[in-house]
Amino acid sequence: MISRSIEEFIKAQPGKEYYVKLAEELAKLNKELNAFNNINGSLSSGYPLSVKDNICVKGMETTASSKVLSGYIPPFNATAVERLSAKGFGVIGKTNMDEFGFGSFGLNSESPARNPFDKSRVAGGSSSGAAIATSIIENHVALAESTGGSIAAPASFCGVVGFTPTYGVVSRYGLIDYGNSLDKIGVMGRSAARVRYTFDIIKGRDRYDATCVDLPAGSERKQASKKLFVIRNLLEHVDESIKKSFEKTLSKLSGMGFEIEEGELKELDSAIAVYYIIAMAEASTNLAKYTGFKYGGKVDDFSKEYNEFFTEAREKFGKEAKRRVVLGTYIRSASVRDKYYYKALQIRRLIGEKISELARKGSIILPTMPMLPPKIEDAGKMNPLQAYMVDILTVPANLTGLPHVSFPADYIDGLPVGAQIIGAPYEDYAILDLVGKWEEDFSYKFAYNLGSL
Ligand code: GLN
Repeated sequence: MISRSIEEFIKAQPGKEYYVKLAEELAKLNKELNAFNNINGSLSSGYPLSVKDNICVKGMETTASSKVLSGYIPPFNATAVERLSAKGFGVIGKTNMDEFGFGSFGLNSESPARNPFDKSRVAGGSSSGAAIATSIIENHVALAESTGGSIAAPASFCGVVGFTPTYGVVSRYGLIDYGNSLDKIGVMGRSAARVRYTFDIIKGRDRYDATCVDLPAGSERKQASKKLFVIRNLLEHVDESIKKSFEKTLSKLSGMGFEIEEGELKELDSAIAVYYIIAMAEASTNLAKYTGFKYGGKVDDFSKEYNEFFTEAREKFGKEAKRRVVLGTYIRSASVRDKYYYKALQIRRLIGEKISELARKGSIILPTMPMLPPKIEDAGKMNPLQAYMVDILTVPANLTGLPHVSFPADYIDGLPVGAQIIGAPYEDYAILDLVGKWEEDFSYKFAYNLGSL
């Protein structure tokens, strides 16, 4: 059942009834899980693709789960969407997320997301809906986006494969920016093969994004590295239950012939601080355009006083977005930018050099999240610093643009536990190859299988 490939599905050509039924089932379950901001009930062909709500789809409301963008209907497709549409994928809906990508739990949205394995728990974020959709729909892949871990985190909590490519390998054209030097479009799926199939189509140079590059020739044939490094100092922040489960994963991998080596990378201890300084600085500039003139719930009354006018447009931001505008603007201000922003850029470069050096000798393996998906009420009680700290394991690869993939490695009390593989720059296919090997001997579990053929 689970093994149906994308090619097989496309060949089977299910009729209109299939899509109508899927949309109805999704709408029903969505009331409990809040996976989708909107569902497309008019699809009649194509491989089911969900698109995170910060990626533009022509003719479908795209809001990045922000009230500021409510009612925005893009007149164009993001490049990734355009390429998949041309290859027979059909968009079944736009998925819920933390507003503009700000968050790790999927709770910074008007409709907080819920975990399909236990509805009292978070689904992870910011690509909460993409992970839920992948976890509940049997034949489907999701386009998601990561700035600091937004693909890996929810993929881990919802028990699916979440792949974040090397920075710049997938065009960002049509993506609503969070932090331009960090944002990556990636893919979630129920298997490494489906993710690979989808990545094949979306990757590579695009004339609409000057930062987008091709993978070096021959990358597709790259196989998993036999050597895997564990960065021990990062494990200090991980819950005991996750550590134990990770040990099991490591011994399974060594049984499969992988050579595991442990080491320290002290530079990574400052990764969270560096990431949040850079991410907030960039976010605050990106949110500056929502003024009520061109973007962001147009204000029509021009008789208003200057401050009143902008306040009306910008008070629609949620609490976390406001926090990031304030902190990001401060970080960039003339009096402190040398101390924070430029310093952070320097440390980022240093971290990048160290981690890439290690990744070139093999791949890096870590748990994806330091904890099991917390209860929604417990996550809601965390202060911002505690909430930011849960990104401790996903930020290093994201800060430095390295490809990484989270995959279900274990289950604790019925909840999925993810592990992640981080590769050297452009080793995207090699890390997917490793997950493919893992799947030969490990079956993933799902709470729902909507849309079975
Ligand atoms: N949790 C991180 C943040 O809030 C990462 C989010 C993301 O990758 N979009 O910045």
